[in-house]
Amino acid sequence: MRYRCVIGLEIHVQLSTKTKAFCSCPADVFDLPPNTAICPVCTGQPGALPVPSEEMIRYAVKAALALNCRINLYSRFDRKNYFYPDLPKGYQISQYFYPIATGGYLEIDGDEGRKKVRIRRLHIEEDAGKLMHEGDSITKATYTLVDMNRCGVPLIEIVTEPDISSPREARVFMEKLRSIVRYIGVSSGDMEKGALRCDANISVVDTQTGRQSNRVEVKNINSFKFVERALEYEFNRIVEALERGEDVERETRGWDMSTKTTVSMRGKEEESDYRYFPEPDIPPIVLTEEYVENVKKEIPELPDEKALRFVREYGLPEYDARVLTASRELADFYEECVRAVGRPKELSNWIMTEVLRELNERNLEITQTKLTPQHFADLFKLMDEGKISIKIAKDIFPEVFETGKMPSQIVREKGLEQISDEKLIEEIVRKAMAENPDAVQQYRDGKKKVMGFFVGYVMRETKGKANPELVNKIAQKLLEGD
Ligand code: ADP
Ligand code: ZN
Ligand code: MG
Repeated sequence: MRYRCVIGLEIHVQLSTKTKAFCSCPADVFDLPPNTAICPVCTGQPGALPVPSEEMIRYAVKAALALNCRINLYSRFDRKNYFYPDLPKGYQISQYFYPIATGGYLEIDGDEGRKKVRIRRLHIEEDAGKLMHEGDSITKATYTLVDMNRCGVPLIEIVTEPDISSPREARVFMEKLRSIVRYIGVSSGDMEKGALRCDANISVVDTQTGRQSNRVEVKNINSFKFVERALEYEFNRIVEALERGEDVERETRGWDMSTKTTVSMRGKEEESDYRYFPEPDIPPIVLTEEYVENVKKEIPELPDEKALRFVREYGLPEYDARVLTASRELADFYEECVRAVGRPKELSNWIMTEVLRELNERNLEITQTKLTPQHFADLFKLMDEGKISIKIAKDIFPEVFETGKMPSQIVREKGLEQISDEKLIEEIVRKAMAENPDAVQQYRDGKKKVMGFFVGYVMRETKGKANPELVNKIAQKLLEGD
């Protein structure tokens, strides 16, 4: 590959604290009617004073520790000044000069194996409000409306070094980050609700000439798919420019979902445009080592550690262990099942295929389902006793998942018990042979593949309920012409 891709991300994570960053309004405003979760502080009324949420600081420290960052015992808030109708104060409270954490990393499954993506800094800031523009699908307004509910909702911003080498790695990074913030319970990580969004910076190096393109920033990407798509689009656009002997503008672009392209929004603003200065209304945040140690103790086993333990404890392949530990709830469910049923590898297969398929199709989390370890205990027992084949087990699984009924009950109700009646199977094979003398002859002439035809015949006749081993054995015996 002549062109090398260089990507760095700036990610906003909404903290799931009870209150907003600097007032006592609720922080979870997603489903609330416009302008019903606001107060003089978050709407910037003259004289109103911000008071930082202790929970917010704790969550930020927790996230920073989980991302292997150094916690700065001294940090401070600053004002980032700009005008926009969704920012009533005319500035955003952020941390610019002294962020709460610096210098961490997150390990991901890179394109060439495991790799560390360095994290430059993690800081706390508040969100801005929301504008609903003309023609908005909800309001159909011919003007712009302002909803200030989101003003002052606490965020952490995570800035990576430009260590990401492909659009795919960018998506993988985002997925891993979401997994971690969920594990530690500081954010829903819900991209659809804007609780996790990223600005992606990309440039391209021509490895033949050593020349590096300008850097483009794609703003406000709010789905894993779009992270990858938008960056692929930009990579191609930049490479095309380089091939023409040109370069792209250094600018900020937005991803347009309808055309699947990026469009120019504005030239890149400079840091000095914001006139950052220390927030005079909030004292510095001074933490103690002891405080940090205490927060550290609240951090649960994280996905990487858990995956290693699953390999060690349950003898799983690393791939299985990673899939199962991607969500804490799924990992917990798996372990409950192993405790109740044993057979870790078999359970892993069922969860990675059947369970994950049902969850993805219905867009559910494991905790939102009726599935319990007892369902697997029952299912395995049916298979062990030869009452159902693995095929029937898979066939009934969606119903088990959907209704929470025990597999044995479904098998009983639908009369799905496996047919192990040798007489009956023999009868059907004989019928098949009588109807298809040519096939029988072919078999006897040495075309052993024809066996599949007879097995298929019996399976059709019995609606898949015949015990496949028995069918094979009996068909072979009769065809060999005993
Ligand atoms: P700015 O001052 O423009 O905000 P920063 O140095 O703060 O730039 O970096 C912002 C983001 O851009 C970081 O995530 C960083 O990793 C990324 N970045 C920096 N240089 C490059 C580059 N050459 N190509 C792609 N991303 C980059
Ligand atoms: Zn408020
Ligand atoms: Mg920057």
